[in-house]
Amino acid sequence: MGAALASLACRAPRRPLNSLACRAARRPLTSLACHSARRSVSTSAAPIYDVAVVGGGAAGLSICALLRKKAPDLRIGLIEPSGTHYYQPAWTLVGGRAFDAAQTRADMASLIPEQVEWIQKEALEFVPEKNELRLREEEGKSSALRYKRLVVAPGLELDWGAIEGLEPTLGRNGVTSNYDFSSCQYTAELVEQLSATAGGRRPRAIFTQPPMPIKCAGAPQKALYLSAHAWESAGAAVDLTFCSAGPALFGVKEFVPTLQGYMDRYGATECYGHTLVAVDGQARRAKFQTADGQLEFEMLHVVPPMRAPRCVRESPLADATGFVAVEHDTLRHVDFENVFAAGDCVSAPNAKTMAAARKQAPVVVHNLLQDLAPAAARPTEAVYDGYGACPLTVEKGKVVLAEFGWGGQLMPSFPGWLIKNTAPSRLAWAFKRHALPWFYWHIMLPGRSWCDPMSWPSVREKGER
Ligand SMILES: Cc1cc2nc3c(=O)[nH]c(=O)nc-3n(C[C@H](O)[C@H](O)[C@H](O)COP(=O)(O)OP(=O)(O)OC[C@H]3O[C@@H](n4cnc5c(N)ncnc54)[C@H](O)[C@@H]3O)c2cc1C
Repeated sequence: MGAALASLACRAPRRPLNSLACRAARRPLTSLACHSARRSVSTSAAPIYDVAVVGGGAAGLSICALLRKKAPDLRIGLIEPSGTHYYQPAWTLVGGRAFDAAQTRADMASLIPEQVEWIQKEALEFVPEKNELRLREEEGKSSALRYKRLVVAPGLELDWGAIEGLEPTLGRNGVTSNYDFSSCQYTAELVEQLSATAGGRRPRAIFTQPPMPIKCAGAPQKALYLSAHAWESAGAAVDLTFCSAGPALFGVKEFVPTLQGYMDRYGATECYGHTLVAVDGQARRAKFQTADGQLEFEMLHVVPPMRAPRCVRESPLADATGFVAVEHDTLRHVDFENVFAAGDCVSAPNAKTMAAARKQAPVVVHNLLQDLAPAAARPTEAVYDGYGACPLTVEKGKVVLAEFGWGGQLMPSFPGWLIKNTAPSRLAWAFKRHALPWFYWHIMLPGRSWCDPMSWPSVREKGER
């Protein structure tokens, strides 16, 4: 009966924040203790944070930094199990021998703002009706953490296991992926190996793309373009195949003619509706979910299917697709008013990119801090405009700087005379290769949004639509 009531509560219309806060404060400790005993977790001494942030990735870290700067008195807890943080957008460049892999990672401890408490544990379960999280402890145990406001930002789960035979062969036998830090250098090695076959037998390189949603939907083809450009430069004849589970080369039609031009220039065969389902590394064979079945390869660049992390998709915070159900503009949870989400885990239909997280972080921080403002203040809310970006590395030295918002509407950051959004550009390459990584480490993660006017969100009066 209790469980039934709890699940009803999850589906109930959104409750106002005050009632949530009061409920939490009024709830006697004994009732929590009883509940915890049933689940064999300890909540008796559960710490309470003003804000708990789950995930220390691009979104979570920048939100922590912005909160720290704007509201230094808040008690903020960051729940993040990993001791290392990665700048994933540069892994494409590492695979193209254009970036040093070591420069894409940093110690998590060095990036967490002072006075943000790092809880180096994995979030296991969300219990939003109690303003509570469960954290993984040793020996199958869990503990509880309580919050007044919650920000959910654990990114995406890469489902390597969904492709039979992939995990044991990834990083060898010609099988690689720029989506894995320890494999992206192997991409560059394989490209060099195949370059050396110039004049000999024509080897086959396959680049796969899984069903959407994935992070940086352009990255599977970025790997193809950079590899193909290296083979073109080396005069190596490689049989190139792009196997995508989707129906088209790119989701925003304005970019397709340019990208198609590169596919044609590199002589790539395009196979749509081709989902990779199994890999036999020893035999160098890839199996697709199609009638024509199998392809042999010398190089296979795999992008695995992705989904929301288990703690999200199996929680009351998830929508039917498993992602955190937020209002697309305010990034506030549709049912739990004191819960926000940002980054790849949100249900909003924007491109899942670091560029989107950069724009979302100030929106979440504004809206969360508005909740804490004195009642007399005129309440406003910040609005996310759907921005995402995908700098497509079509050649080593040229990028198509695809930037777009809701419904694929173009949102260029630069005037057309400087960088034309739909055309390959050397300046855009320099921007991706040099400016963006610097910007990420020195402006975005430390929360210096005051010097990034493009990330300032538009603000409206609360309730105005
Ligand atoms: C190959 C590649 C190329 C890309 N190229 C680009 C690009 O050119 N431009 C661009 O804008 N974006 C690009 N991206 C996408 C970009 O990296 C992501 O969109 C961005 O990192 C999302 O930020 P996030 O904070 O949501 O998730 P992440 O940065 O992935 O961080 C999630 C964090 O949550 C933590 N976490 C996970 N589960 C839990 C849990 N249960 N409890 C607590 N913590 C948890 C993880 O350890 C991690 O630190 C690329 C990504 C890849 C892989």
